[in-house]
Amino acid sequence: MKKIIIANWKMNPKTPRDASRLADKIGRGVKNIKSVEVVFAPPFIHIPAIYKFKTGAQDCFYEKSGAYTGEVSPLQLKACGVRLVIVGHSERRALGETNEIVNKKLKAVLGTGMRAILCVGEAERQKEIAFPKIIRDELHEGLSRIKKSFFRNLIIAYEPIWAIGTGRADTPKNVYEITTIIRRELYRMVGKRIASKIPVLYGGSVDDKNSYAFVKDGAVDGLLVGGASLNANKFVKLVKAVAGL
Ligand code: PEP
Repeated sequence: MKKIIIANWKMNPKTPRDASRLADKIGRGVKNIKSVEVVFAPPFIHIPAIYKFKTGAQDCFYEKSGAYTGEVSPLQLKACGVRLVIVGHSERRALGETNEIVNKKLKAVLGTGMRAILCVGEAERQKEIAFPKIIRDELHEGLSRIKKSFFRNLIIAYEPIWAIGTGRADTPKNVYEITTIIRRELYRMVGKRIASKIPVLYGGSVDDKNSYAFVKDGAVDGLLVGGASLNANKFVKLVKAVAGL
């Protein structure tokens, strides 16, 4: 399976020009890499500025159109060339997004034929619990009553909240253990044939020094990268390290 690396730019950079420069610089650095798919997830307003690249969105609404001031629909994103939408990022959940809302958004995104990344992860590491209930609930409630055929466009990102933006990345060993349980949970939900094709990524303080270890020893199918994706040199190194596998 080709590795996937998503650059989650969060609420950066400031201008469309900065966004296009950043994407151009990264694009030049990774252009000959075939074994890794790189997707940029900029703020909505910068999507047109980087239309030449494979683009994702950081969120969306679940309705198709209508009186929803401030929202953006999956159909609108698709019409702008977006291929993938991040859903249920912990920074969205912290603003009040529930598993029920995540479920509606996943159905809406997958219903358009775009890919969706469902983010799951615990707020605190509890040593005595191998698989926190919160992750199980995020998977089961987030994926409740989603058509089996939609699962071929699903990606899961394991992102322990305590590791996001803190510089305290998880260990590849732990990521291996948790993502193995996530994969097992997916087998139970949709069967091995479908589940084995769902990419499972890791996110949380990934940089150019640890990206290789997460993919090799953590055995994940890719990475969701925040802070390090805003530094073109660092991000290109991070991608090259994974491509060197
Ligand atoms: C993220 O935003 O999903 C993320 C993992 O951020 P960072 O890489 O900065 O921890």
